[in-house]
Amino acid sequence: MSTMTGKEIYDIQNKNSDEDAGIRPKALNEFIGQKTIRENLGVFLTAARLRKEALDHILFSGPPGLGKTTLARILSGAQGAGFHQIAAPNLRRPGDLARMLAAMQEMDVLFIDEIHRLPAPVEEILYTAMEDKVIDISVGEGMSAASVQLKLPPFTLVGATTRPGALSSPLTDRFGIKLRLDFYEETELVQVLQRAARLWQIDIDSSGLQAIAARARRTPRVALRLLRRIWDFATVYAHEKKLKMVTIDEAEAIRSFELMGIDSLGLTNLDLQFLDAIARHYSGGPVGLKAVAAILAEDLVTLEDYLEPYLVRLGFILRTPRGRVLSREGFKHINAEMKNSSGLENHLFEQENNNE
Ligand code: ADP
Repeated sequence: MSTMTGKEIYDIQNKNSDEDAGIRPKALNEFIGQKTIRENLGVFLTAARLRKEALDHILFSGPPGLGKTTLARILSGAQGAGFHQIAAPNLRRPGDLARMLAAMQEMDVLFIDEIHRLPAPVEEILYTAMEDKVIDISVGEGMSAASVQLKLPPFTLVGATTRPGALSSPLTDRFGIKLRLDFYEETELVQVLQRAARLWQIDIDSSGLQAIAARARRTPRVALRLLRRIWDFATVYAHEKKLKMVTIDEAEAIRSFELMGIDSLGLTNLDLQFLDAIARHYSGGPVGLKAVAAILAEDLVTLEDYLEPYLVRLGFILRTPRGRVLSREGFKHINAEMKNSSGLENHLFEQENNNE
């Protein structure tokens, strides 16, 4: 039945798909939500400008799709200098990073995504680059090897991570500014969607916007991606019915969500399988995420970074020192979802009682 799995919606490899098309906010005042972060960044930018300095190094943390890359680009635009972007796993050797640093111009922003995944020898280069604006490059080999010091212009390193806890403390300590992005309110997502619909010229009413916002996992990237897909469904529907164009309303949105296998909370089959695996195989937990990933034959990063944060936000999964635990609310949700589709409900009700 489902044409879209969880993975396609929060697709890791596919960050730059069409949800970005021409609508990434370019200035702080176009960026919706995250009020405290916006206000803070505004002050830091002004202070840096008044002192004619590059902005201090910044670490953004938070689940994927909340706007970390967008903010980094906005900061670079505000400083009127260049923007260099790389994902940490692509920096395999110290030389890869040294080359990027050597190319930096005054006030440029170097954005390193997934910075918790930097290999240790590469990370060490960053220490002196961030602190003293120098890098040591080794030239020659064997006995004749020598180290040359290269001076860097004032620049800003912006790091983004879904797991601030996985960063080493020498690296964390070198960021003067650390900001944590949080999930968005539904009303903010409605604004994100409204802006996108206007720029993409999609005809959608407020009930349609609301229906998408409610299923967008509190995440702008998911909201935009859903809007694009529903627009696809509406376009095809209008073509089949020989309508000139349809206005997307709640009914049209919900029809598409059903076809995509997305429930009223924005959960997909993969989320339900995740919850169900903890319920069925581990009596509700506690269980390590690795074990759940093995049962689902799913990549650990997909579960930990893309699925779990929202399930925790919903209160369905609790993170405990001994592992993940399915909450009563989590049990209730899968019971409700599975009631018609499988014979699990008795078993699950038993588990719920045991958990009390
Ligand atoms: P991250 O780097 O945290 O994974 P991105 O910055 O790539 O997230 O944002 C994902 C998408 O959501 C982009 O298309 C971006 O334009 C949009 N987006 C994110 N935050 C906002 C926001 N506050 N207002 C409007 N659009 C946003």
